[in-house]
Amino acid sequence: PYTGPPAAEILEKRRRHMNPGIILYYKKHVNIVQGKMQYLYDEGGRRYLDAFAGIVTVSCGHCHPEVNDAIVKQTNLLQHTTTIYLNQAVADFAEALAQKMPGNLKVVYFVNSGGEANDMALMMARLYTGNYDVIALRNAYHGLSSATMGLNGQRIYKHGVPQGFGIHHALNPHPYRGCFGSDGPKYAADVAEIIQTSTSGRVAGFFAETFQGVGGAVELAPGYLPIVYETVRKAGGLCIADEVQTAFGRLGSHYWGFETQGVIPDIVTLAKGLGNGLPVAAVVTTPEIASVLSRALHFNTFGGNPVCSAGGHAVLRVLDKEKRQQHCAEVGTYLLQRLNELKGKYDVIGDVRGRGLMIGVELVRDRQTKEPAKEETADVHEKMKDLGVLIGKGGMYGNVFRIKPPMCFTKEDADFLVDVMDYTMSKM
Ligand code: PMP
Repeated sequence: PYTGPPAAEILEKRRRHMNPGIILYYKKHVNIVQGKMQYLYDEGGRRYLDAFAGIVTVSCGHCHPEVNDAIVKQTNLLQHTTTIYLNQAVADFAEALAQKMPGNLKVVYFVNSGGEANDMALMMARLYTGNYDVIALRNAYHGLSSATMGLNGQRIYKHGVPQGFGIHHALNPHPYRGCFGSDGPKYAADVAEIIQTSTSGRVAGFFAETFQGVGGAVELAPGYLPIVYETVRKAGGLCIADEVQTAFGRLGSHYWGFETQGVIPDIVTLAKGLGNGLPVAAVVTTPEIASVLSRALHFNTFGGNPVCSAGGHAVLRVLDKEKRQQHCAEVGTYLLQRLNELKGKYDVIGDVRGRGLMIGVELVRDRQTKEPAKEETADVHEKMKDLGVLIGKGGMYGNVFRIKPPMCFTKEDADFLVDVMDYTMSKM
């Protein structure tokens, strides 16, 4: 049983001593004290179905025994030295990760967060190409360092400070809200136009999440990336895939998000699910591109530490052993089907979209005008929590449910989630 302070006391401490920009998700807060696979428990021992996985971070499941065992064993053996010495754990992890990648993506650089990985990718692209203009997407999210903040395409993730110079934002190939619907090639033409109108004609690179996460589970319109990659490469640039939310089979159909568009990037960034909760992130690229780092010393104190390496390596093993990609495909298809049935019942659901266990449900006041139903979204979100289901919320207008549970989430969990959403909407 929980013996810590009550929620009100924790809240007061946060208010006094923590970042005032921090988000608190609910009006009536939840104090989470324990986790087990796809479930979380509050201070009173109440169980919640976790369909947001600590923002798509808990891949194998909360406190997965095999991952935790690897972490504890390594912690007891050796916690830290940095990469200035040899150590088996980090080399094995790098090898295992590189083996999962297609093409010549064989060199791994370990860092501690997604934003840091994207920072590194941005610098590598500029160093390698000798160019500095970069293209990113509107509605994108890539991190909150000053460089990556410049890549973000959403006002609420930008401060009015100098950030990420030389970044141009292209039309978002958003099948539901974008001006060209699902016509990927039409959106791709905008990237060519940006290069022609706003750069010297030479660019350092193009950044995209292959399936926008924070932006509200938006799968890029089909046919978009192959054309953009070709355009960007012709202009001397590198193509960077931010796989921070989409990797490791979560999409069901493919292990990596970029595979859904049939492309191979020059640089891939990974974080979140790579550690199942441990702070571990990575930049994966080709030996040729990585070689630019040898022009100076480049070092990261915690990047590639033995504990995170052992944990991350265990994550890759467990997801394979438990056949999670296939599981995500099966459970995700079922969940999408049930959510689509719900869309038939409630006009407030404007769009149900996704792949595997990366799902978005967008609420609108009017299906024609697509006016975002922001308050309704917040209301259903809060009430579903009261009934024991935690889901994400996001999108440019705060009107999209983001359903991205730990990958061990079952069909029974999917039924419970949809039944709770159905009941909540029936009372609206
Ligand atoms: N890229 C994507 C696609 C993300 O979703 C996030 C985090 N939400 C980041 C990068 C930044 O990761 P971190 O918070 O670990 O810096």
